[in-house]
Amino acid sequence: MVAERAATMFFFGARMRIPSQVRRTFGVDRKVSTASRKPKVSVRAQGTSDASVAVLGGGAAGLTAAYFAAVSGAKRVIVYERTSEAGKKILMSGGARCNVLPVSARVEDFVTESTPRKLKNIMASWNVERCREWLENDIGLELGIEHVTNKYFPLSNSSREVRDKLLEACLREGVDIRYGASVEGLRRVSDDGADGEAWSLLMRDCPDERVSVVILAMGGMSFPAVGTDGTGYVIARRDLEHNLAEPYPALVPLTGKHPGGEQLPGVSVNVSLECEPIQGGIKAGKKKKAKANREGFLFTHRGFSGPAVLDLSHNVVRSLVRTKGCNKGEDVEQSDADMMEVVVPSLVVSWSGESRDEWQERLAAPPGKALVATRLREGLPQRLADALLAEAGVDNDCKVADLRRVDRLKLLDVLTKYRIPVDGHQGYRKAEVTGGGVPLDEINFQTMESLKSPGVYFCGEVCDVFGRIGGFNFLWAWTSGRLAGMSAAKLVSEKNQ
Ligand SMILES: Cc1cc2nc3c(=O)[nH]c(=O)nc-3n(C[C@H](O)[C@H](O)[C@H](O)COP(=O)(O)OP(=O)(O)OC[C@H]3O[C@@H](n4cnc5c(N)ncnc54)[C@H](O)[C@@H]3O)c2cc1C
Repeated sequence: MVAERAATMFFFGARMRIPSQVRRTFGVDRKVSTASRKPKVSVRAQGTSDASVAVLGGGAAGLTAAYFAAVSGAKRVIVYERTSEAGKKILMSGGARCNVLPVSARVEDFVTESTPRKLKNIMASWNVERCREWLENDIGLELGIEHVTNKYFPLSNSSREVRDKLLEACLREGVDIRYGASVEGLRRVSDDGADGEAWSLLMRDCPDERVSVVILAMGGMSFPAVGTDGTGYVIARRDLEHNLAEPYPALVPLTGKHPGGEQLPGVSVNVSLECEPIQGGIKAGKKKKAKANREGFLFTHRGFSGPAVLDLSHNVVRSLVRTKGCNKGEDVEQSDADMMEVVVPSLVVSWSGESRDEWQERLAAPPGKALVATRLREGLPQRLADALLAEAGVDNDCKVADLRRVDRLKLLDVLTKYRIPVDGHQGYRKAEVTGGGVPLDEINFQTMESLKSPGVYFCGEVCDVFGRIGGFNFLWAWTSGRLAGMSAAKLVSEKNQ
């Protein structure tokens, strides 16, 4: 495997090739709790790495940044990756098919609490078409459009191909990938050891290393089992003086009871889903009605998922996370009594997406002896139709002609503006991305360099940006990674002059 072939490690300052069986046991996949760990940076313990650009994190954004730093002239680029392989999230993505890009993108496809203009400027540094050309021509991926969803996938339908080809491209350009290398802190130092122009990387279980320029690409907190536990946020806040937009799980399944007291796991339906803001609520809930771009809605064992739910989940989760004592991003459901007291935006669904008038017509159509249940089943999966009848208090054997006005109105409400009884979410373990992070307002949008700590660049999920389902998160990773990599290379060459 490419990753295996290329693995090199720095051990007490000396660079050497490590046999794979040793690599597997060297600091790989350890659980790290960074939140409480202060960096014990000792300049005396410096390693002797001559890296000019240090990329912290070997995910989609970090590998892209490393590639562009290398092709932009940085002589020495090292990726520090804490796990045993790079790009693990690429492997998991898109159901292992990897939805690498959307067909087109607008700033509205992304969520940030920073000034939207900043995001727009960063996204304008590249575009989907140029990005696609890069993936095809430089990385060597053949891509195709899935027209139903407007998404780009590799023709191989293999996320492994995406990861391997990206990694190969980095290695071809001379990037070193250092596995089992967990960076726990950063401190500015100068060549003589005093505070100054370079950066000291505080490494876990090996000597600190001095580098010229840093690209922080450690991702967020979702799927912590694959190496992302929020260390990037800790470093940004503690060592680089950034004020974070409080992170929260996003694109995450929600929990709650199914309609009609029924259990409907596995039932999926195309819906129209909207998020109603809280009147007079906290800032996150004051925005205008958000509507899901996608229609897929899935009942799970514990609640609700599918693209429509995932795309709007952040509205609810952010409110929960920002409300006192309710949730620190962990898996939370109705058993948490606090949760019930929190006012969160409502998700309102029209099952099947048909309008109230359309349902009215369907329900009133002759013959009157037809069952109401049959009419519902014409437009909805049977189990859901029966559950919605129960929710509206209408008997299964009620005939169209016998449906009382009051019951018809209640049924129409249940069919077209049903409030999903959300009582929690499935936390970072199931969240595809993390919302919040390093604010774009604290980053130079022309370079991705920190405005608080010059010489450090950010890219990818660690920033206060995520996109909706559909390849937008990789688009952000590629775009911000490229800009950070090119800018870091430029700074290094200026330093060398
Ligand atoms: C199940 C799933 C499916 C997804 N599917 C899609 C999809 O189809 N399309 C799409 O656009 N997006 C998808 N996403 C989102 C997408 O994967 C992420 O947005 C993207 O991978 C983020 O890239 P990143 O490089 O910023 O962070 P990551 O990929 O999370 O990479 C961060 C890297 O930093 C390393 N790291 C962390 N801390 C340290 C440290 N202290 N020292 C050294 N290294 C460290 C981690 O091990 C990791 O390798 C999906 C996400 C998930 C979880």
